[in-house]
Amino acid sequence: LVVLENVNKHFGALHVLQDIDLTIARGEVVVVIGPSGSGKSTLCRTINRLETVDSGTIRIDGEPLPAEGRELARLRADVGMVFQSFNLFAHKTVLENVTLGQIKVRKAAKAKAEEKARQLLDRVGVGSQADKYPAQLSGGQQQRVAIARALAMDPKVMLFDEPTSALDPEMINEVLEVMQQLARDGMTMVVVTHEMGFARSAANRVLFMADGRIVEQARPDQFFTAPKSDRAKDFLSKIL
Ligand code: ATP
Ligand code: MG
Repeated sequence: LVVLENVNKHFGALHVLQDIDLTIARGEVVVVIGPSGSGKSTLCRTINRLETVDSGTIRIDGEPLPAEGRELARLRADVGMVFQSFNLFAHKTVLENVTLGQIKVRKAAKAKAEEKARQLLDRVGVGSQADKYPAQLSGGQQQRVAIARALAMDPKVMLFDEPTSALDPEMINEVLEVMQQLARDGMTMVVVTHEMGFARSAANRVLFMADGRIVEQARPDQFFTAPKSDRAKDFLSKIL
């Protein structure tokens, strides 16, 4: 469903993504881990063209992502993205946050968009918050709204970049549970996270990055019990 071929990306002299080849199947849940600065966020951002690439190709469902224009907006909407910092529209209500993209990008009628938004907000457990503004919600609630907003576009794949890192500990689980459910429902997901419990229970594959390369990838039970590379062993010894 998502295919990256020989993707390279530099920031000035820094080679942040080096010869990335990655194929993600429909319904697969890939957890990306690795040291700070290894290129995890950049990888996510290139998948929906928030970052351009220097070389290589990225295809979503067979279609190459154009660099810009209307076509890009449409294809980008196929890739849902959830950030560490929620990124909700502060001056719009929760309901408006979840209807806006449907109306603007997917050209949905307002009533239809609202109906769908309420269903999604219920699904992530914040249905009663629909008329509030983001600042009136807890971090965990805001992040669940952000997930509902992304889902409202009917994405083919969902990218999560450290979705629980900015949350107080007691709110982490409510967000992880929504993500677990999404994984069980068959959503294709790429998740950058330090939550190794989530990786063990939800991931089909763990991808370990270091210095802009995919150093190792394996099923979570294999990766966590028998990492092959020294880089991965060293990383795991620090976080587990
Ligand atoms: P973290 O775990 O800290 O989030 P990461 O693996 O997500 O790290 P990236 O954010 O992808 O790492 O960054 C990879 C490298 O690229 C880092 O050295 C970073 O400083 C650099 N970098 C990221 N974005 C930019 C940018 N817009 N301009 C210049 N350098 C950047
Ligand atoms: Mg990052």
